[in-house]
Formats: sequence, structure tokens, C-alpha cells
Amino acid sequence: MTVVPPGSAVGVLGSGQLGRMFALAARRLGYRVHTFSPESDTPTGQVADVEITASYDDLDAVRKFARGVKVVTFEFENVPAACVTAAEECAPVRPNAQALHVSQHRLREKQFLSQKGFPVAAFRHVQNLGELIAALAALGTPAVLKTAGFGYDGKGQRVIRKSEEAAEAFAALGGREAVLESFIDFSCELSVVAARSINGAVTDWGAIENSHANHILDVSVSPAVTPTPRQSAEAVKIAHDVLRALDVVGVMCVEFFLTKNGRLIINELAPRPHNSGHLTLDAAVTNQFEQQLRAVCGLPLGATDFFASAAMVNLLGDLWTKGEPVWQRALVLPDVKLHLYGKAEARPGRKMGHLTALARTPAEARDLALTARRALTPV
Ligand code: AMP
Repeated sequence: MTVVPPGSAVGVLGSGQLGRMFALAARRLGYRVHTFSPESDTPTGQVADVEITASYDDLDAVRKFARGVKVVTFEFENVPAACVTAAEECAPVRPNAQALHVSQHRLREKQFLSQKGFPVAAFRHVQNLGELIAALAALGTPAVLKTAGFGYDGKGQRVIRKSEEAAEAFAALGGREAVLESFIDFSCELSVVAARSINGAVTDWGAIENSHANHILDVSVSPAVTPTPRQSAEAVKIAHDVLRALDVVGVMCVEFFLTKNGRLIINELAPRPHNSGHLTLDAAVTNQFEQQLRAVCGLPLGATDFFASAAMVNLLGDLWTKGEPVWQRALVLPDVKLHLYGKAEARPGRKMGHLTALARTPAEARDLALTARRALTPV
């Protein structure tokens, strides 16, 4: 096992806020960070040592980037397979190409999980309208139609409530290859962010409870409140098993639905730190980004104990509609921490930053985080 020691350069494919928080963690441990993406002056590039601006299809640029670092990891998984292969020729890529290949495509992900016996919603592969109509007859309505590739934050999905809506829904997704899955009547959504080291040790931050607005994560709370302790423990166990099944070295998030009759169903996987794990930055001994660094560099994983219950609320560009948010109104609350990602332009739905609130109980943390966010809007 080769350790990539502090002082080395680590590479991150992608340049958004996840890469930024990874780079900040890596710098704190004395690493240098190189980032690669098609954009410039990016959230990651602003805090990295080297920002490379090139297309993911420019394989010579990818090789040059990978030759300049000791290990390559991701903050954005929707990179072409050829890009990963080119990087692998020049440096270890962690997590591995298979974990990436499976989790960047909903159909492959569902097939992999169901073949390995993990719980997923009933699903069908849909390549044309005829297959969609047959799939609706098999699964019943309501059902959710999702594009097979390159989907995130609810992009590329439609709920179908009646079979007559099939043609319209298929057209709305551009007639692309898709997956139809049963609509899950859930009591809550959960995520487990877990990390696995080169030696196979696995750590996690327990079950985190998530609520979404317009298909985008809105609020995360730790520890999760709705599931029983046994259900939370079961979610953690499933997540560990998924990381092992994919031989992940790094961080992976497993998102779940908890159905009204108490079943856990995996919704999706992310082969990297996750928005719901941002609260670990302020609330846990080791946060998800430092753990990603430790894992991909072959270092021992850190402790994941929490100092307090925590809640995270996202700050989307919509918050800027009435002008610059009034930051001091949130910062005056001593147990609230502000994170901004350095994005110049606030567009609706764009993740600009987040707030974390720490409290004695998860319910108090949630209330505090929501109060802080409400206070930001200028009057
Ligand atoms: P996704 O992009 O697949 O994570 O979906 C975004 C959000 O849409 C989820 O977090 C759920 O709130 C909702 N959703 C997705 N799939 C389903 C489903 N099969 N049943 C019910 N709600 C769903």
C-alpha cells in the first residue's frame, strides 16, 4: 500500500463546491491541490494551487493533469469513461472506475444494486414510448420516469400519475434512454455518507435525514429523527455493504427512502462527498472531505463522532432575489456557521452556500438553521 503523504499534490476532477471543500481540507493537512474542469475561476480553482481549464474529452490534457499529481479523485462524477481511463494511465484514480461507471448511470446503478440483492424500487428500462407504456402497465401508477444518464438534483425526471401521460412525459425528457421506477410513498428520505480506506476499514456519520424542495436538497438533520434506531442502523449497514460491493476507496453517499411501512429502499449513490454530509464540517471530529482525502491518500480514517446535533440548510441563488443577503443576521447567532462557495452569479436553484446550526437536539438544530436562513432575506 502506497501512502500519498502530506506535501504531495492531489488532483480533483470537477471544480464546484465539493472540490472547494475538499481542497480546503487537503490544504489544512499540507497537501497541494490541482483541479481540472472546463471552467475557470471556479469554486475549487479559487482555493486550489493549480486550476486546469480543459474539456473532459481533451485526453492529453487529462493525462498531463494526472501526471502532475500523486492521486486523482472526483467531486463531479459525470465525466466520460475515456477521461477516467486516461487519468488511470498516469495516476491511481480513487474511487475506482467501476464505482464511477455504476453510479453515473441510473440504469446501471439499479441493475448493479438489484443483482447484488440491495433493496431498490421496482424498475424497467425504457428506450421508446412502446416500452414506457409496457413498463407502466407492469409497474402501475404513479411512477417516476428518469433519464438513465447524467441526472442530478431531480433534473431529467417526471412523475407519471396516469398512463395517458406517458407520451408527454417521454417527450419532456427528450425521448432519451430512461428508467421507469415505482413511486415510493416514503415517510422520510435518509442518506448515509460513508468512507472506505485502502485497507477496507469503513466509517460513517450515521443516518442523516433530508428534505427536498423542488427536487433539490433543502434541509439535512443529524442524527435522523424519523427512523427508529434499528432502521438507522440498518441503513448504515446497507451503506457499508454497498461501499464494499463496489470496492470504493474514498467517500460514497447512499441515499434512501424509508417507506411508510418501514422498509429501506436505495434511491441513488454518489461516489463522492455529498451535500447532506456538509454538516460534518462543523459538527464532527473528522468531516467528509478530510475523510475523502485520508481514504484516497492511503491514510488511516479519522473519528466520525459528532460534537452536537446538527442541521444544514442550503442557500440557493433564489435567496439573492431581493438583493444581497444580510449575512450578519445569521452570523449573530453563535451556533450558526456560514459557508459560501465563491460563486459570482446567483441564479435560481444554484447552490451558493449553506448554513450549519449546532444544538442539543436535531429538532432544535433544524429550527435554528431555518431561523437563520429566514433572517438573511433583506426586508
Ligand atoms: P433523484 O434525482 O433520483 O435523487 O430524485 C430527487 C428527488 O425526487 C428525491 O430525493 C425524491 O424526493 C423524489 N423522488 C425520486 N424518485 C422517487 C420515487 N421513486 N418515489 C418518490 N419520490 C421520488
